[in-house]
Amino acid sequence: MASPGIHDIHFDDAPDVTTNVPGPASKRLIEKQSKIDSNAVAYPKRVPIAIEEAKGATVRDADGNTFLDFFAGIGVLNVGHSNPYVLEGVQEQLEKVVHTVDFPTEARLELIERLNDIAPGALPDNNRVVFGGPTGSDAIEATIKLAKHNTGGSGLIAFRGSYHGGSAGALSLTAGKKYKEDYTPLLGDVTHVPYPYATRQEQSPEEAAEAALANVRELLEDPYSGLANPAGIWVEPIQGEGGVVTPPAGFLPRLKELAAANDVPLIVDEIQTGFGRTGEWFASDWEDLTPDIMPMAKAIGGIGLPLSATMYHEDLDTWGPGGHVGTYRGNVPAMVGGIRAIDYIEEHDLLAHAREMGGYMRERLQAAADETDNIIEVRGRGLFTGVEFVDSDGKPDKDVVKEIQQYCYERGVLVWSAGRYGSVLRLIPPLVVTPEQVEVGMDVVVEAIAETC
Ligand code: PLP
Repeated sequence: MASPGIHDIHFDDAPDVTTNVPGPASKRLIEKQSKIDSNAVAYPKRVPIAIEEAKGATVRDADGNTFLDFFAGIGVLNVGHSNPYVLEGVQEQLEKVVHTVDFPTEARLELIERLNDIAPGALPDNNRVVFGGPTGSDAIEATIKLAKHNTGGSGLIAFRGSYHGGSAGALSLTAGKKYKEDYTPLLGDVTHVPYPYATRQEQSPEEAAEAALANVRELLEDPYSGLANPAGIWVEPIQGEGGVVTPPAGFLPRLKELAAANDVPLIVDEIQTGFGRTGEWFASDWEDLTPDIMPMAKAIGGIGLPLSATMYHEDLDTWGPGGHVGTYRGNVPAMVGGIRAIDYIEEHDLLAHAREMGGYMRERLQAAADETDNIIEVRGRGLFTGVEFVDSDGKPDKDVVKEIQQYCYERGVLVWSAGRYGSVLRLIPPLVVTPEQVEVGMDVVVEAIAETC
C-alpha cells in the first residue's frame, strides 16, 4: 500500500458531539465497568467516554460522538490510531508469526537497524538493543539491571518530579508520593535531586540548571554526600507526568559530562518523548545528547501495540545470554508496527510537521496566557505542550485544569493534565494531526481558558 497522507486517515467530522456526554451508550458501559472492572481504573473517571473506534487523531465513542484526540493514549499514538499503512504491515505479520521469544525474525532485525539509524548523538553504529516486557516500566527495569551490572553500584540517582513507571524498580525512581506511598520500602538506595524547573523555583533557567547540576555533582563527588556506590543517573529529557517541564538548554549535555566524569551511565528516559513527539526523533536530539542507556516504549509499537526496547552503548553489553529474561522479548507484529511507523514519519516529514503544529499551538496558548494572570508558563517542544495554571494567590490550580478538560470534552476535544499538583494542561496530539484539526482544537482550548480563567 502507498501510505496515505495525513489528511486521509481521520474521521472527517471531528469534533462532532451530538448527545449530552457521556451519552447513553457510554454511560451504560461505564456503569458496567464500574461493577466488574478494577477500582484502579482511572481514565474514564476524568473523561467519561466508552470508545467504539478511532482513526488518526480522532476517536468515536459508543454513541457516535467524534472527538479530536489531543491526548493520543498518553503519547502512544504518534502516527495516529489504526494508521492504515501501519495496520497493513501488522495484519500481514499477524498471519505469519506473532511470538518468537528472542529468535531472530526479519522484523526484529530490521527494527533494530531502523532504531540504529534514528538513534540520537553518537549512538548510531555504537549500540545494542535489548527487548524485554512490553511496557515502559519493563524497559526501565532493564536499565536498572544494566546500570547495576556494569557499575557494580546500587545507588540510583533520579529527579524530583520524575515518572519512570509503576513496577517496583521503576516506581523506586518515580518521584510522585501518591504512586508509591502504599508500597514502600521499594529499592533502598535511591536519591531524588531537584530537576531544573525555573518557573517553579523562581530562578532564571541558568540558575536552575546550575543549582540542579551542583546537587548531582555534590552527591557524586562529596565524600560525605551519603551516596557510596552510584549505579547511574536517570533523567527524562522533558518531564512528562511532572508537567511537561522542559529543562534549560545545556543542562542535559552537562549532566552527561558529570555522569562520564564519575563513571556512571546517564539513562535518558525517552519513553514519552521518543518517536517524533518533540519534533525530533528523540528529545535528546535537541541537544545532540548521547544517552548511555535509552529506554523506549509507548509510540514504538506504531499503533499502540505493546512493545518496549532499551538501547545502550555497545560497551555496556557485558551481560551474558539470559542476562535479561522474560517470556515477551519482542512481539513481532508490534515490531512491524514500529518499522512502519518510522517509515510513515519519514515519508510524511512528521518531525517538521510536529514542530510547526506545536509552535502554532504554543502561540495560541501564549496569546491566551497574555490575557490572564492564571497562566504562569506555556512550554514544551514539538507536539508536547504544557500550560501551567495558578489561582489568584499564585498557588497551583488543579481545579481550573479539570474545568478546562471538562469544557473541551463537552465540545469534542480530549485533553489531559499533568504536573505535581495536576495544575498543568498537557496537550499531546498524534503527530498526524492536520493544521485544520489543530486550529479547530485550539479554538476550543483557548475558549475554555477564556471561560474559566
Ligand atoms: N517513563 C516515562 C517518561 C513515562 O512517561 C512512562 C509512562 O507514562 C513510563 C516511563 C512508564 O511506562 P509504562 O506506563 O508503559 O509502564
